[in-house]
Amino acid sequence: MNSVQLSSTTAAPKSLPSLTVAKFGGTSVADFEAMLRCAHIIKNDTRNRLIVVSASAGVTNYLVRLSQENISVNEQKDIIDNIRAIQFNITQHFSSDIEASLNTEINRLLDELTQHALTQSLQHSAKNSDAILAYGEQCSSRIFAQVLQSIDVAGEYFNVQQVMKTNSTYGKAIVDLNLLKSHCAQLLAPKLVNKVIVTQGFIGQDGEGNTTTLGRGGSDYSAALLTEALQGDNLSIWTDVVGIFTTDPRITDQARAIKEISFGEAAEMATFGAKILHPATLIPAMRCNIPVFVGSSKEPEKGGTQIKKKVDSTPTYRSIALRREQTLVTVKSPAMLHASGFLAKVFGVLAKYELSVDLVTTSEISVALTFDNPSGSTQSLITNTVVAELEQLCEVSVENGLSLVAVIGNGLTGAKGIGQNIFEAINDINIRMICHGASANNLCFLVAENDANFVVEKLHKTLFAKI
Ligand code: ADP
Ligand code: ASP
Ligand code: MG
Repeated sequence: MNSVQLSSTTAAPKSLPSLTVAKFGGTSVADFEAMLRCAHIIKNDTRNRLIVVSASAGVTNYLVRLSQENISVNEQKDIIDNIRAIQFNITQHFSSDIEASLNTEINRLLDELTQHALTQSLQHSAKNSDAILAYGEQCSSRIFAQVLQSIDVAGEYFNVQQVMKTNSTYGKAIVDLNLLKSHCAQLLAPKLVNKVIVTQGFIGQDGEGNTTTLGRGGSDYSAALLTEALQGDNLSIWTDVVGIFTTDPRITDQARAIKEISFGEAAEMATFGAKILHPATLIPAMRCNIPVFVGSSKEPEKGGTQIKKKVDSTPTYRSIALRREQTLVTVKSPAMLHASGFLAKVFGVLAKYELSVDLVTTSEISVALTFDNPSGSTQSLITNTVVAELEQLCEVSVENGLSLVAVIGNGLTGAKGIGQNIFEAINDINIRMICHGASANNLCFLVAENDANFVVEKLHKTLFAKI
């Protein structure tokens, strides 16, 4: 089980007890049985002393809807009742006194949530959206601490907002690492000596005391940051699949679990859309060389994937990642030919609207740029205002409904026949943009959203057939 999988990792100095930070995702804390399985994983390995939980499955999606502008009071009420039902469905498994006290606490949180929802319908703000989104983790962490206690583990709730201090970029807040470290040393580390602390992923707090969030799927990143701040020895990400696969197992049943993968390859997968890890998760782990384990809380006995600095095998093809909801913007101007400063002006406009460009390719007179649409956003990232401003400089075309396919591996820029292997397999597909050369770890290209699953399946068959 967990203790066996992690036994080969670096040991902490003798004087300090070894610390594993264990993060449990939405499906792992979806209901009572799932929470109980996680509690046993924790109990079976006493190194698991800081537990980071997501909201119970489905709750954050409800909260996202609640935070949107076009929602009636009736729908708000239905959503809050649905969230209550998900949480009460878990608390009903406790003895009646514990159930009653947890339900009182959940009702109190949901009353606060109702107030935020009403405020949001009167005046929508990103600040209030983040306040709304945080309630899922606030509920699940309180319940999970109690599940631990029910199997005699000294679980205690801790509000992560005491330590996870961020700026005020609502929806994508940036964590203050120095404050995180000092607050963790002061407020969290002493508690870990004789307690198993349960805290929230995904959420933080800005300098004015307002709630912030780190972006969808951000609990993985929270857990990694906390591991770094506490100088933990291991990070375990417990989810609904038995590790990192050669591609999303929901796309093809041919996908296979990977036993070991380097930080660089796994980071590339996360960045290019493998939902199994939030894109920023491996940044703290790489900074401090913290090994990361990914496994299934449903089947912990099956082991999982170890992510570490050095691995024995460096295959040319490691995996295929897919990122949906991409926007391709093409800017075209004959003035670009032999001229200087054109690109700087284009990027100036994009910077003004805080649009982060992902991939870039250029020709003599045109430049193609891709943008990642944060999932759940209702508005197109490239607004009419942005287009109008760019049109003062050049012709602009915007295309949505695209997916980015990334082939991830090692030495992709040096190996022969890569392009042929990849593109011959999908020669009947219209490819919109290709990026190859900037990184030896990936080759990526855009296809129409409707072709994406087929492309991944077909490529997987071709590239991984003989492994
Ligand atoms: P959690 O709620 O535990 O954070 P997520 O839904 O965010 O879980 O991530 C797990 C999901 O990631 C899996 O169910 C799987 O469909 C998806 N996924 C995408 N790419 C991969 C991959 N390469 N390997 C494994 N899972 C992947
Ligand atoms: N609950 C948040 C989400 O669904 C964060 C997470 O699960 O990692 O996006
Ligand atoms: Mg996730």
